[in-house]
Amino acid sequence: MTGGPRVALLGFSIECNRFAPVARLADFRRWLEGEALLADARGAAPVALPEMPGFVAAMDAAGPWRPRPLLLALAEPNGPVEQGDFADMMARWRQGLEVLRGELDGVYCLLHGAGLTTALDDPEGALQAMIREVLGEGVPLVCSYDLHANVSQAMVRHCDAFVGYRTNPHLDMRERGAESAALLRRLMAGERFHRAFRRLPIVAPTVSLLTAKGPYGEVIDFGQERRRLLGPEKVANVSVMGGFAYSDTPFNGFAIVVTGPDRAACEALADELARDAWSRRARFVAKLTPLTEAVQRALTAEVPLAFADVADNPGGGGGGNTLFILAAFHKAGVEGALFGLLHDPALAAEAHERGRGARFSARFNRDTRGGFAHPFAAPAEVVALSDGRVVGRRGLYAGTAKDLGPTAALRLGGITAVVVSHRLQCADPAFFEHLGLDIGAARAVVLKSRGHFRGGFDEFFTPGRIIEVDAPGLTSPMLDRFAWTKLPRPVLPLDPETRWAP
Ligand SMILES: [Zn+2]
Repeated sequence: MTGGPRVALLGFSIECNRFAPVARLADFRRWLEGEALLADARGAAPVALPEMPGFVAAMDAAGPWRPRPLLLALAEPNGPVEQGDFADMMARWRQGLEVLRGELDGVYCLLHGAGLTTALDDPEGALQAMIREVLGEGVPLVCSYDLHANVSQAMVRHCDAFVGYRTNPHLDMRERGAESAALLRRLMAGERFHRAFRRLPIVAPTVSLLTAKGPYGEVIDFGQERRRLLGPEKVANVSVMGGFAYSDTPFNGFAIVVTGPDRAACEALADELARDAWSRRARFVAKLTPLTEAVQRALTAEVPLAFADVADNPGGGGGGNTLFILAAFHKAGVEGALFGLLHDPALAAEAHERGRGARFSARFNRDTRGGFAHPFAAPAEVVALSDGRVVGRRGLYAGTAKDLGPTAALRLGGITAVVVSHRLQCADPAFFEHLGLDIGAARAVVLKSRGHFRGGFDEFFTPGRIIEVDAPGLTSPMLDRFAWTKLPRPVLPLDPETRWAP
């Protein structure tokens, strides 16, 4: 293929929790540069977020094009990125774009939208501004975002089309990549889009942002209904962004971005959706089950239950290493329980050294300091070992290659815990199954995940069999427990006196 538009591909994705430890370059474990980016996107089990394979496949299907892959830097959620490391990435993107200046027809940029650096509250806005600075206003730029993005003015100003996820758990990433390709094709064909942007003083607790049911999904569905009714010649995309509280930025808040050719229609719809979201404001709250009650449920339940450790979600910057639920279940003598994933490289390494069948005293968190992770020890048996290379089976990670590092299943009394060397949220049944553990036979399954596990474990647990546990942690949905420094105040649900008018 030699003809067709030349499109630069790049991206940056990390969800940053301001209260979590600083992230370094080495934490960007999925680092795809140049042709490797394209090969991954066209491969059988991409490591990239599915937006990129979705974008590339849609471009391939729509006709000839000339991809110009630069750098896609992806990390698991963590703390703010060390500024010097982010500056390194910026230099690579800038250099790649400068080489292509004058010959590009479009740019696709895969973003998360809740990034931070040790110096910047809005690295995504900085990246978009740099793209504009190098390429000017004439080259169409489409940016896709996670719905946990905190939307700044710069993110809206510096792109031509803003595309956000519509499902939580995130099951539409590939579709949003494909949609980004379709919108870029329209822009490259000469259409011009307006973006209407509204932000509400609502910082929704994570657990109130599921989309299958509840206020957030209602606003999203209403937006999609209106978009279909208005038609693509008026409105091209409606993105309703829930935001990510723990980034703690001055532009946190529930956001609406409407992209399309008809300025008046986009502005009117943004107003309509903002009013609709505001009318549902009392429902953006967290209702969790106290730990003592969760223990009782695990001991007495007649049906198997899932317990979500929502406050220690690696998918929101949690360490994956708090042991409040494990210690409480162990002490109470809960039987038939599975736990995943506990991040403890030293313990996983020791289990590998000792080998399958070994019995020893498992010392959790021996090297961990600070945060909410405390040491805990219990007699254990190594029941299974793996190298942690797993292809996701269902939900968020389906078809994606994941690397948990050296992994061990340890039996502690009636509990079997999966201990991993690389921090990852427990969103896929394969994380248990690849060790021979039977989820269907467990009476209780404890998952360090805020909500993405719902997309992977729905075969085993209907929503009524899921308990969101209130334990301490870096991603607790109980927002009054954090020392916020930058959140706009007053804001709901922290400040009941919060007012807003269109
Ligand atoms: Zn997200």
